[in-house]
This record gives sequence, C-alpha cells and structure tokens, in this order.
Amino acid sequence: MKVPILTYHACNISGNRYDNNDQMALAEDLRLLARKGWQVIPLHQLVAVIRGDIVEDLAHCVVLTCDDGTLADVQPLVFPEHGMQPGLLGVLQAFVAETPEKFPRLEMSSFVIADPHTRALLDRDCLFDQGWMGEEVWQLANASGLMRIECHSWDHNHSVLDSTGPDAMPRGNFFVVDNDLRARHEIDRSLDYLNARLADKPCRVFAYPYGQANEYLSQEYLPKHADRLGLLAAVGGEKGPVTQHSDLWNLPRYICGAHWKSPLELEAILEECS
Ligand SMILES: [Zn+2]
Repeated sequence: MKVPILTYHACNISGNRYDNNDQMALAEDLRLLARKGWQVIPLHQLVAVIRGDIVEDLAHCVVLTCDDGTLADVQPLVFPEHGMQPGLLGVLQAFVAETPEKFPRLEMSSFVIADPHTRALLDRDCLFDQGWMGEEVWQLANASGLMRIECHSWDHNHSVLDSTGPDAMPRGNFFVVDNDLRARHEIDRSLDYLNARLADKPCRVFAYPYGQANEYLSQEYLPKHADRLGLLAAVGGEKGPVTQHSDLWNLPRYICGAHWKSPLELEAILEECS
C-alpha cells in the first residue's frame, strides 16, 4: 500500500496557472486522477486501515487535504489582481457536478487554526485584511459532505504573534512545542475550541503547523493522550506516500507547490505509488 496524501493551500495564488494557483492545480489534479483510474478516499478511511480498524485494499487511492483554514477553502472569493476564485470546495463541487460517479467517496480534510486572535492577525498581515479567516464556514464545510474540518493547532505558533507562547515559547516554528504545557496550549486548547463548534463532527486528525513534528509530540504526547483528545492520527509535511508501516503520529504528505509543481510531476508521484 502506497497512498499519497496531497495537500493544497487555497490562498496560494499569485496568478491563474497551475504552477501559481493551488485552486487551479486541484481542479486539474482531480481530472488527472480520474483519467488515470485513481480513487479519492477520505483521510479517515486511510487512518482506519493503518490502525487495523478496517481491512481494505487501498491500491490507487489518494487522500486530499488543505491547510490553514481560510474562507477560500469553502467559498468563492475575489483575489486582488487575480480575480474570482471558486474555493477548494467549489472545485470539488464542480468536479462532482461534471462527473458525479467518478469519486463516490470524495472528501478533503481541511486543517484549521482555532485561535480567533491569531486568525485575525494572519488575515491582516498575511492576507488582504478582508476578514478571510473567519470560522463561520466550518459548519458549512462539514455540512457539504465533501469537506471535513480538522485541527491545525491553537495558533500555529505563528511568527505573526506578537508575544511569546507558554513557558516563554519562541514563535515561528512548531518544533519548540516540546513539553506538556506547550502541547496543552497548542493541541488540547485547540481541540476544545474546535470541537465545541463542530458538534457532531469532532476533529480526529491533527496536522503539525509548518509540517514540523518533533519526537516529543509524535512519539510521546499524542500517542499518550490520543484517546482523551479523540485523535486517531497526525499528519506532517515530510514528502512520501503513506504505507502500512508509516508512523501514525507523523504521516507524510505531498505539498502542492513544494513537492510537485506540474501535472507531470504529480504523475511521477502517482507512478511511484503504483
Ligand atoms: Zn499551516
């Protein structure tokens, strides 16, 4: 079993071509996957197979994820200079409308940041200061049947934050989340906030901010507290397919724009996973 998890960022848009617009890349990738006879399955299904909860042949299956949780995951938005973009959910819906029978289990997992203050800073400093990091779309995403909200930490320990974190934690990377206090702040607090708003669809998977998974979190904290937190797995940012032997608490992913930049490069990844 070699299952690629493909990752997109809805706001990675600096033009209207495959190589500079993740939304356009996703649209084209769905067509490529369909043409090549691949299936898209929910992340949760892959996790269940690795955990041994279900037995299923996942040859020629891929999983879709997106990170950072902007409104562009879920709804159409007009990007300054680059015009109207459909949103990742819009891309999925358009694909289903065209070919409803192709991917019966189509779903993308969307990893969102919980803290409203951090989201406001990110919106102001990293986006266009137009309120694009609101949480009002989380319920819509979950209700769509094509997207599932998951956890991307409390505040990403992001460099936009203007103060240090718990235990004088420096900002700007996630490797420093290396003790109980810091982990509770970034993970427990985030899940409490998200799950209170997601009612019947609580988070089951955590995505390490910046794709940075240290040993403390992946080998100690998350395995130890998984049941209490309701988590089944975590995904990172290391390039590679998920196999039966992958670390459940640091599953590798392929990042659009970093690990592939063209349909040909994605085809090569699919080849390697065949
Ligand atoms: Zn992120």
